[in-house]
Amino acid sequence: MLDLTTRGDFARHRRLRRSEGLRRLVAETRLSPSDFVYPLFVTHGTNIRKEIPSMPGQYRISVDQAAREADDLRALAIPAVLLFGLPASKDAQGSEAYADDGVVQEAVRAFKRADPQLVVVTDVCLCEYTDHGHCGVVTGDGEIDNDHSIELLAKAALSQARAGADLVAPSDMMDGRVLEIRETLDDAGYAQIPIMAYSAKYASAFYGPFREAADSAPQFGDRRGYQMDPPNSREALAEIEDDLDEGADIVMVKPALAYLDVLSRARDAFDVPLAAYNVSGEYSMVKAAAANGWIDEQRITLEILTAIKRAGADIIISYHAKEAARWLAARA
Ligand SMILES: [Zn+2]
Repeated sequence: MLDLTTRGDFARHRRLRRSEGLRRLVAETRLSPSDFVYPLFVTHGTNIRKEIPSMPGQYRISVDQAAREADDLRALAIPAVLLFGLPASKDAQGSEAYADDGVVQEAVRAFKRADPQLVVVTDVCLCEYTDHGHCGVVTGDGEIDNDHSIELLAKAALSQARAGADLVAPSDMMDGRVLEIRETLDDAGYAQIPIMAYSAKYASAFYGPFREAADSAPQFGDRRGYQMDPPNSREALAEIEDDLDEGADIVMVKPALAYLDVLSRARDAFDVPLAAYNVSGEYSMVKAAAANGWIDEQRITLEILTAIKRAGADIIISYHAKEAARWLAARA
């Protein structure tokens, strides 16, 4: 390396920042619509497109809207959709989660009919479907029954795979659920279906708006008994390692923005596809501040998504996906 100090000179880092063209040329991180997965809430009924009050620009849709959504995603070059279901009725066992005519199973079929190339990802959890709102089943004394829950989660994943899901994504944080799902899929002839595990999912206040959207707030207690505690990051690596050992193909850190350090540690430790979930609270804070005229919405959004990618995410699940893809296309 040339020793500039001996010449009484110094490094001129600014040379490569002089123009938009130069900056683009040397950018270390490039955000693209193909990084994105777009999350959607699907409900029973027809012709429903109901905006979620705490998430402006996001909608609960009925299954018949799938073709329109698939067209949008194709036009924007977004490769994947992640489906959450709002069941007709809820019960203690979360039955609609694993019903072959459940709302998500119907939505999977509709999306695959509309666009066979679209990657349809399904959320595997019970909290949207249980009357108590927990991610697993509850015993008589109010405990979450881990080992019974993972059997039901595996049933849900299997029914989604049967409906045509391309990728199943367990978000419940029960122990051993990836192994249970993997074995269940393999035994039923679905060895080809990959698993994206919510491996390091934190008990976060950033999920608030989602719970309104998915109507999935716990009716008693909270999820701190199974989701991770925000102070911990070494534990996240142990969770990820266990999910990989159990057969996960993609691992995830959730939320994204307040956990970029966890994402970065996971990137350094594991050479597997890494997903980050840019969650509802992160989205809603941007929308609220933008509605007040306090921030430059487009710049803030793209800066956040770029930071998530820079920290190590290969896949970014985001409610901003469509608008970000539009902004990126306009810049290109
Ligand atoms: Zn859940």
